[in-house]
Amino acid sequence: MKKINIKNVAEEYYIGKIVCVGRNYTDHVIELGNEVPEKPILFLKPSSAVIFSGENIKYPSYSKEMHHEAELVLLIGEELSNADETESGKAIAGYAVGLDMTLRDIQNELKKKGHPWTIAKCFDTSAVLSDFVSSKEYKLTLDEQISLSVNGELRQREKLNQMIFSPSQLVQYISSIMKLERGDIIFTGTPAGVGKVNKGDVLRADIKGVGELTCKVE
Ligand code: MG
Repeated sequence: MKKINIKNVAEEYYIGKIVCVGRNYTDHVIELGNEVPEKPILFLKPSSAVIFSGENIKYPSYSKEMHHEAELVLLIGEELSNADETESGKAIAGYAVGLDMTLRDIQNELKKKGHPWTIAKCFDTSAVLSDFVSSKEYKLTLDEQISLSVNGELRQREKLNQMIFSPSQLVQYISSIMKLERGDIIFTGTPAGVGKVNKGDVLRADIKGVGELTCKVE
């Protein structure tokens, strides 16, 4: 089981399931030619896919088009089922910035066939995390910017308030589908600007006040 570090918090969290949200920023929905969803689109990643800032992303041999997706990540602090929005907001114990690494060529083939996205989304090192900041210590306003650069060149930059579904709305919706437990984490979707990475690239993502990460593709 992988342990999560929260800055200035002694309590330990171990990563449970990872719930990811697709198509949560309108500009990103448009850039991939998809429709704006009426409800959040959910998929899962295994906790074994997690790496932390400073570790390397491994390029799977069966893909030629791995994309970066920088995202706000939520940490769940308590068990939650069929919660309302207020309870959902209170259950968020911390925030981080993360990368939902995606094999776009494989995902496009799977979409055409109507198959699940598993092999495009769940490979080892596909979930990159910064350290977390406690929600008690840092109040997220959604006025923060998320950004991602590749080799120092800016590729993604957007305000978190451009999300279609807010963090508490996402937690509420997910809790109506499956029980959320302490240590579960949620990737909240990526803004526009996703693109291909190559071996040797250095990715840097940050959300001011929340966290930052740096990792290399190998
Ligand atoms: Mg994503």
